[in-house]
Amino acid sequence: MKIQYLGTAAAEGVPALFCNCAYCRALRGRIARGEGGREVRSRAQILLDGELSIEFPPDSFYHMARFGVDLSAVRYALITHSHMDHLCAHDLVLRGYKYAHEMTAPHLTLFGNREVLDVVEECTRREMKGEVANNLTLRAVGAFEEIAFDDWKAYTMPARHSSREPLLYLIERGGKRVLHLTDTGLLPEESFAFLGALNRRVDVVTLDCTFLFEEASAAARHMGIAENIAVRSRLLSMGVADERTKFVITHFSHNSAPSDEAVRRAEREYGFIAAYDGMLLEI
Ligand SMILES: [Zn+2]
Ligand SMILES: [Zn+2]
Ligand SMILES: [Zn+2]
Repeated sequence: MKIQYLGTAAAEGVPALFCNCAYCRALRGRIARGEGGREVRSRAQILLDGELSIEFPPDSFYHMARFGVDLSAVRYALITHSHMDHLCAHDLVLRGYKYAHEMTAPHLTLFGNREVLDVVEECTRREMKGEVANNLTLRAVGAFEEIAFDDWKAYTMPARHSSREPLLYLIERGGKRVLHLTDTGLLPEESFAFLGALNRRVDVVTLDCTFLFEEASAAARHMGIAENIAVRSRLLSMGVADERTKFVITHFSHNSAPSDEAVRRAEREYGFIAAYDGMLLEI
């Protein structure tokens, strides 16, 4: 399975859209000199085998233009929740009609909870052409479900986030498995129990690392390295992960100043893989 991390920032991006903190100011200065490199991060999107997109963020256009990916090849979108950095439904009105010719996969099935589907309907109702609407199927999913489409399977479980809305996904295809754990704080016990009952070893775990080395409270709705270590230990002790499993950290915030040096430290000292925009993993 090919896993491409197209966007690796928290909601406001890195540098943050309207921010003049010391980190964002310095990074903008480097970008102006053509030296932003991997520290420039866009909003969350991960592409699996070029045809399944986790999230559909406001930076989808930028991902297509920067990395040359064919987003018309995306047949399935799994949306975790309706926050604006994970779902920019307005862009879906461009998926057909005069806006898109010879699409690789004309039909897109979008999976999300009821809130996600409400946002899609609200954001597209003014501009959606009939031809484009016919190319889109919305499917409601809740927690603790198994969904199957073509040769893909996905299992859903709840996150700890700003509401009980977000879904975490375990996705499998051809014997390979990816566990997607953003946006969430330490997982709710019922999600660990669900993973335990599924009893499947995963190849890649994607972890929310919004706080990086900043301290997070126990009730936090995102994680940092300390919580990532705790989740990794738990998954290893349950047998959901083993020594071959790759743990990838992402969803970085400007508030924790995710410099190259800081994310390299997370890799060197703690054994994580720090995602950057465009990073490709093959498993
Ligand atoms: Zn987010
Ligand atoms: Zn900032
Ligand atoms: Zn969120």
